[in-house]
Amino acid sequence: ATFAEIGLGDGLKKNIRRCNYVKPTPIQRYAIPIAVAGRDLMACAQTGSGKTAAFCFPIISGVLKDPSLVSGRRGGGGGGGSAAVACPLALILAPTRELSCQLRSLEKGVDILVATPGRLVDMIERARVSLGMLKYLALDEADRMLDMGFEPQIRKIVEQMDMPPPGTRQTMLFSATFPDDIQRLASDFLSDYIFLAV
Ligand code: AMP
Repeated sequence: ATFAEIGLGDGLKKNIRRCNYVKPTPIQRYAIPIAVAGRDLMACAQTGSGKTAAFCFPIISGVLKDPSLVSGRRGGGGGGGSAAVACPLALILAPTRELSCQLRSLEKGVDILVATPGRLVDMIERARVSLGMLKYLALDEADRMLDMGFEPQIRKIVEQMDMPPPGTRQTMLFSATFPDDIQRLASDFLSDYIFLAV
């Protein structure tokens, strides 16, 4: 299958080619159509499998199509000299900063925020980030985040999302292993989800 055949249309085609990705890896082949269809997903994925693109491409594709991108969603709360509150549409939580650009450009507004749980809790407490607009949540390397002791922060972050009506937030959880605590997280955060092991 090609990327176009699994549901990633024109918006991303050129950039995917620019990455020299000729065809989807197995995890991408199966996860992308599920994600593009808007379903919650728990996927078993090792580093090196192409898992990052498996959740990033559908998120980017969804954000590019989002009507609030053009309706001036950004820039709320910027008056009076106080820092603007960023209201991302998508949040990717990852265990380390290697993926996470650390929030310097928050004030310009962000559509997709990649953050470590600890840092994000700090930004929420300092009222720099609001998760009330969030439509996409991805947890990358969930087992590693729990091993690092991030479960309380992750739960706090998810509680911060002004619980939208059921079904309006799409959540994807990627993990290499599935111990009890990961399964509890999945049953607490995901709704009617598909479990994918490639
Ligand atoms: P990841 O498992 O997400 O850490 O990705 C591992 C590596 O595979 C990264 O260097 C990606 O750039 C690369 N990669 C991801 N998807 C593809 C693809 N479809 N074709 C070729 N390389 C890829």
